[in-house]
Amino acid sequence: MLCSLQVYIPVSLKLIMIKINKCTSIFSCVVVSLLLPLNSFALPQQALVPGGIAILGVSDYTPETEITFDGRKTTIFKNGDSWYALAGIPLRAKPGKYEFKIRKEDGLTLQTSVNVVAKKYKEQHLTIKNKRKVNPNRQDMERINKERTRKRAAKLHWSNTYPDIDFIWPVSGEISSIFGLRRFFNEQERNPHNGLDIAAPEGTDIKVTADGTVIETGDFFFSGNMVYVDHGQGLISLYAHLSRIDVKPGDVLRSGDVLGAVGQTGRVTGAHLHFAVIANGVLVDPVYLLPENQPEQQN
Ligand SMILES: [Zn+2]
Repeated sequence: MLCSLQVYIPVSLKLIMIKINKCTSIFSCVVVSLLLPLNSFALPQQALVPGGIAILGVSDYTPETEITFDGRKTTIFKNGDSWYALAGIPLRAKPGKYEFKIRKEDGLTLQTSVNVVAKKYKEQHLTIKNKRKVNPNRQDMERINKERTRKRAAKLHWSNTYPDIDFIWPVSGEISSIFGLRRFFNEQERNPHNGLDIAAPEGTDIKVTADGTVIETGDFFFSGNMVYVDHGQGLISLYAHLSRIDVKPGDVLRSGDVLGAVGQTGRVTGAHLHFAVIANGVLVDPVYLLPENQPEQQN
């Protein structure tokens, strides 16, 4: 690797891009820069794998700067004095090169690519007693299709607010199911697991992971009682299978506010929180944004 710390210091984006040409990979340089001590919160963990996140440091950022990753608008956030672009990598993404495009206010366009590598996700086999939750009837399908439209709208929601990405654990508890597992319900393959399951007793308070605004709540066929929170710039968190919802669309929450309680509504095998994170319309593994350790259990 030819790059060094020097690569990431230049004051203009143009300069960064010129110097970065000397690197074998821009992300080798980004990673180096992320290892530096920062007098702010820990940055999310970059993971260039399907279901992971890509992070790009951006110098000379202005609100007019447009940054896309694989054609989708990225989440822009600030940490200390530095600006970054964060992009979700779809779980179905094929390994290979993916491009960040940066269009500056003056029309200058720069691009750089990252290399996404394969990740093997394991299988999980679950037995669901309520067979309709695995093979819905016609009436259920009508409901599911309506809900799909609402879910899609929430997933693609965009607000210009710069997000608080200093996430906290919404509940403490054993991780009963990790992100990305290939799922078989009653031995029938369904969509892969797109969140993190945290086991906790029914009724345990759920805290919002960061500052945000509630954009959708409701009782969904598979997800049970669910809450979507918009953190800004396409970064959204969701909380499913709740026993109780304490918030409504439009509510403004501060990090740690209680939004509901752990339950076992929807398609479940027991009480847990299904916690998911969406970055630019893509569900990503929440562990890359959460602190490494959970706080002491408080409920
Ligand atoms: Zn889950």
